[in-house]
Amino acid sequence: MYMRAVCRFMVLLTVLVSGVVKSTAQDAMPARVVPVQPMMSVTQPAHLNAGTAIDLENPASFLYPEWSNSYVNNYDNVKLPDSVIISMKGYCMPTDSTYITDKFGYRPRRGRQHFGLDIRIKTGDTIRAAFDGKVRISRYERRGYGHYLVIRHPNGLETLYGHLSKKLVNENDIVHAGDPIALGGNTGRSTGPHLHFETRILGNAINPALMFDFPHQRAVTDYYVYQKNTRAVYYRVKSGDTLSGIALKNETSVSSICKLNGITTKTVIKPGQTLRVQ
Ligand SMILES: [Zn+2]
Repeated sequence: MYMRAVCRFMVLLTVLVSGVVKSTAQDAMPARVVPVQPMMSVTQPAHLNAGTAIDLENPASFLYPEWSNSYVNNYDNVKLPDSVIISMKGYCMPTDSTYITDKFGYRPRRGRQHFGLDIRIKTGDTIRAAFDGKVRISRYERRGYGHYLVIRHPNGLETLYGHLSKKLVNENDIVHAGDPIALGGNTGRSTGPHLHFETRILGNAINPALMFDFPHQRAVTDYYVYQKNTRAVYYRVKSGDTLSGIALKNETSVSSICKLNGITTKTVIKPGQTLRVQ
């Protein structure tokens, strides 16, 4: 997994470098050299540009057109690049707890998506900033996240920390990786003390387990490559739907749907239920 991510990153970097070479050395290009094909746009985080000072007052301005304290996902009108390289450089695990109580993705029991990872903690445990960044949202939501924080980071990620008992930072504060930002808790829609941790790019939730390995307290990879066209696609089951019918409609297979949702071909699907189809 690690090697694959690094290799993919290297390929992307090669593409970037080739692009530059092509534009400056076009006239001198020997005839046998095959021209570089037009490639998808790759958004390179500032971390990867040697000598670039990281601007914590305006983190990841290469992705986010504005700074607003309003909503977790406020980016419906912002165009998502085809691909974003997320550097894990300088990360800190948000909690030293290693016990995952709920994974990212579809929850069969509740019939809806879970956009984060739940990690069991004790109320009062210190929660730390995952990277350097700026606090975008510090709020209380009685029926949802409870006390929660959203931090925007220079690498393009936004991290969300939910069900906190106490917040230690305010909106627009600048934080550094590892800074205590809150105490964990059980506020909002929560049935026991845990940290609900989300990672998002321009509002799109990504499985935090692809970047943060809580059981082993380390980063999964040096660079996580987010690709828009491999984004998860969900389907809402209608009355009369069958797994094979849904597979046909979404140009996929029953076995792939079963794998993505942790179900079997014998699982009874119900109208209104959400299934991941890509
Ligand atoms: Zn959760």
